[in-house]
Amino acid sequence: MRKIIIAIDGWSSCGKSTMARQLASKLNYIFIDSGAMYRAITLFFNRNGIDLDKTDDVKKALTQINLEFVFNDENGNTEICLNHENVETLIRNFDVASKVSEVASNSLVREFAVAQQQKIGVSKGIVMDGRDIGTTVFPNAELKIFVTADIKTRVLRRHKELILKNPEITMDEVQQNLEARDYMDSNRDISPLRQAADAKLLDNTNLTPTEQLEMVLGWATAKING
Ligand code: C5P
Repeated sequence: MRKIIIAIDGWSSCGKSTMARQLASKLNYIFIDSGAMYRAITLFFNRNGIDLDKTDDVKKALTQINLEFVFNDENGNTEICLNHENVETLIRNFDVASKVSEVASNSLVREFAVAQQQKIGVSKGIVMDGRDIGTTVFPNAELKIFVTADIKTRVLRRHKELILKNPEITMDEVQQNLEARDYMDSNRDISPLRQAADAKLLDNTNLTPTEQLEMVLGWATAKING
């Protein structure tokens, strides 16, 4: 059966990764959470106090970063490793979330991440989610989906996740972080978050995860068979 590339972009906390993971599992495709790559790079920069204004330091830091995705047999998820350390949980912390969009707007960081993403996609059979997948990473992807949901719904969903690790976190803090990231992601100079002209728009505010999965699976199957 013909294999395709499925590019999923959209605003922060729209449930893109969950949907992409489920879709990949249904199709027996590889799932890549490109945001996890930017988060892992941010974790490395935070740990090593890398100043984004110092180009040589950024260049050197990138040569010291090895990113790979490993399959976790216990939960069936693909998880990210930074220099062979599984950082899947650590990168979801608020200190990474509050810095990641700044790091992701750096041109050297983007070059580094995009080159790796394109390499992973060479054999197709992949679902990748992020902000610039349909516009920059895979402009020829056979299926592009742009996901949106209203801000209140997104804040509620993300707050529910974050409060498990940080009981102090407030709705306001979560909303500020989402809005700040959306603003930075859609206003940066390089590869800003945009709906590709040929992307299908998916507003999941009032969709259950099952309804959403059925919809995207239908789109994917049509493309694969078409
Ligand atoms: O998808 P997630 O929310 O984990 O992504 C974290 C951040 O990484 C985004 O807010 C954005 O700044 C950056 N990102 C990006 N391009 C991508 C994926 C994520 O700039 N393809």
